Order: sequence, then structure tokens, then C-alpha cells
Amino acid sequence: MEKILYRSTNGKAPIVSFKEALLNGQAPDYGLYVPTFIPKIRIDEIKCLKQKPYFEVAFHILYKFLKGEIGEKELFEMCKNVYDFDVPIIEIEKGKLYILRLDKGPTCSFKDFAAKMMASLMEYFAKEENKKLTVLVATSGDTGGAVANSFYKKENIKVVVLFPVEEVSERQRKQMTTLGENILPIGIKGKFDDCQNFVKRAFNDISLSSLNLTSANSINIGRLLPQIVYYFYAYLKFEKEIVFSVPSGNFGNLMGGVIGKKMGLPVKKFIVAVNENNEFPEFLRTGEYMPVIPSKKCSSNAMNVGHPSNFARLIDIYGGWIMDERDKDGKVIKYGVMKRKPDMEKMRNDFISFSISNEEVDETIKNYYQKYKIVIEPHTAVGIKSYEKSQISDLVIVLQTADPAKFPEKIKQLLNIEPKIPEALAKILTKKEDSFDVLENNYDVFKKYLLDKIK
Ligand SMILES: *Cc1c(COP(=O)(O)O)cnc(C)c1O
Repeated sequence: MEKILYRSTNGKAPIVSFKEALLNGQAPDYGLYVPTFIPKIRIDEIKCLKQKPYFEVAFHILYKFLKGEIGEKELFEMCKNVYDFDVPIIEIEKGKLYILRLDKGPTCSFKDFAAKMMASLMEYFAKEENKKLTVLVATSGDTGGAVANSFYKKENIKVVVLFPVEEVSERQRKQMTTLGENILPIGIKGKFDDCQNFVKRAFNDISLSSLNLTSANSINIGRLLPQIVYYFYAYLKFEKEIVFSVPSGNFGNLMGGVIGKKMGLPVKKFIVAVNENNEFPEFLRTGEYMPVIPSKKCSSNAMNVGHPSNFARLIDIYGGWIMDERDKDGKVIKYGVMKRKPDMEKMRNDFISFSISNEEVDETIKNYYQKYKIVIEPHTAVGIKSYEKSQISDLVIVLQTADPAKFPEKIKQLLNIEPKIPEALAKILTKKEDSFDVLENNYDVFKKYLLDKIK
């Protein structure tokens, strides 16, 4: 089998190896990297993985994409080290509804699956190239913790996490500020969008080139590939065609499943579950893409996205082309311009999508506690409510993307109980928080600080 290369969805950047795509993050033409072809896997080959531990399934799937980039033994060991936590499947209604718990990693978010693997891959390639890298990431809460924990003590890599100091919860902040070592958290007196803008400007800022900046956000192909694996893992528990309900924001999670289906995984449909940011269900309905800008604030805050960054990949895989139009300086003048329509019929066949209101989320959390004695959190509730609205009676697996203990106020308000704190989170909460610097909302201040701190 030949090595898989990566092209940009905008088609104006050179085709690169996985290593380059991983270290570049975004393609120089502002497109997203996608594989030039998707490797196929036969059903009998999938079935050979039955009863194997998660890390072996991960190795088998990932090696299809990484052959020729990393040794077989190295990748196997890497998968073994990275996936040292459980991936349970909970039965809600036999033969009908199951929950795949993706929240058992170190920061109790499904983002651990991708962030941990990506960190190990980056460390591997940084060492191979004998290069020092600086990962720069902005977070509205969850990504920062997952990335910081994943890169903690990785050699040759420093991590700078920008967060809006007034907008993250104490638990979220502590996941970034209790680590030290190679992790540098910076509070910004601004909003998430300000942090995100600093990051984008920094990547294009020549005066920061000595830092070898690289991104760890959800557009990086290194974050995408690991998210294919749990769809296979879930399938292996049933060996039947499955409907997945995916709580979605930037559509990274969904893209993992879509690539899995393209590889040959028997997926009947994806329920694309979104909160009040309803651009996707509207797109399926009308065929017109209208991003929700600015995005709406909902209780499932990690899904407050009105213009999903992975949407360009999704459209690409269905034969279309969408891009943000920019001026000469790279500043976006129009978001989400459809240059070529995707195959809408095929998309409507593969996806069904619902927008769930905050009230429906609250109701669902209460209902499931009463009916099944389980505590779900707002993101997963969006997935469950979408399943209910779909009226699908086949086997459905809802992906649980976070642990309820990450949203104690919400759970307390609705159910009048304190959610049980998982061990991973308890560890972080008892750790002493290091002091961290808080900067004015000013790019030049931030840039000077960065050059001072990272030598
Ligand atoms: C990031 C996140 C999501 C959304 O995932 P995408 O890949 O951005 O669609 C859903 N739930 C939780 C808890 C998250 O942290």
C-alpha cells in the first residue's frame, strides 16, 4: 500500500506528508488537510479486532493512515501508552439505545482521545526532526485542559494556552494551571474570540517564527484521525449496522465517524445533534449554508459553534467545496462561501440533524434521571434528545462527550444532587494551582510576553 498524503480542501497548497500536515496545522492556503484517499477496510478484517483492547483497535485503524510515517512497533507502543483508560458502553434500552462513554480520559472529555494521541505523535516527529516546537492554543474551557494534560512533560514541546480569564470555570481553569513544567497558561482579559484572534495572528506573525508555533486545535489532522477509532470499537460490541448520535460543535467528532464510514464501517446514519446553533439542520433542509455568527451561548458550551471549523472537510468528502473568502492580508471578508455544492441527496441520506433548545436539554437531563437513574450532562443530552426526535428504532449509540461532574452547577440546579466526581477530576481539584499571568486584551502585549517567556 502506498503512503497516504494530505491535500488542502482549498486545493492551492502543496500536497504534504502526514508529518508536515500535523506540524503545519492549517494548510498555507487556509484550507484544511484531508487525506488524498481513504483506506478501505473489509468487514472480516474489522471483525478480527473483536474483543481486542481499545488500544489495539486504535493501532490497527491508525496504522492504515500512518504507514510509512512511523514504525509499526513505535505506533503500537504509542497507542498502548495513550489509551490506558476505559471506554464503556452503557445499555439504556436493550437493542435500542446505548451510550458510548468517551469521558473516562484524564480530563473527562472525549477530547482526550485525540489530544493525547496528537501530543505523542508531535513529540515523536519533533524529536525525529530535532526541532523545538511551541503549541499555541486558545480555549473557551475544555480544549485547553485536554491539550495541556496531553502535552504535559512531552519533550521538545512547550504549550501556551490562552483562556478568557473571566469566562472559564474554576474546574476548567485548574486543568490548565496546576501542571507547570512545559505548560504555560495565560489568562486574557477578554473573550474567547479575542484569544482565538491572538492565536491566528501569531501563526502568521513572522517576528514569532523563532518559536516554531504549531496548533493543536480541532482543525489539525492529528486531532481528527484518532476520532475514527471509537466508532469501530463501538461497532465491534454489536457487529450490526449502527446509527450514531453525535453531539456536535466543530464537527471533528462527526468527521471521525464519517471517515470511518468511508473506510467501510457499517454505519446506517449519523444523527448530527447540535444546540441552538442550528446552521447544519437548516443546511440539510434548505441546501443553503448560513453560519450563525456570532454563535449562540448555550448550556452545552463546548458546542457553541455557529460556523464549524470541520465543515469544509465534511463538504469536501461529499464532493463540494466551501471556503471563507479573505482579503490580501488573510482577513476573512465572508464566512462559508459555497464554491461547489456537495451531493445533497447523499448527505440527506447519511445525516439527520436536530437543533436542541436549552429547555429541551434541561428536560432531558431530568427525564433520564427519573426514568433510568442516570446522570447525563448538557452535551450528551443534546445527543439523546436528538435521538428521541429522530424516532429511529434501529440500534442507536449516543456518544457521551463529557462527565457530568464538569457541570456541577447545572446538575445541582436540575436534579438537586452533587454529581459524583471521577478520580481523574478529583486529582486535579486537590492539586495546588500555580500562579499564572493575566494579560490585557492587546496583541502586542501578548506577543512581547511570549517572546520574553519562551527562549
Ligand atoms: C468539543 C466538545 C464537543 C463538540 O465536539 P466537536 O468535535 O467540536 O463537534 C461536544 N461535547 C464536549 C463535551 C466537547 O468538549
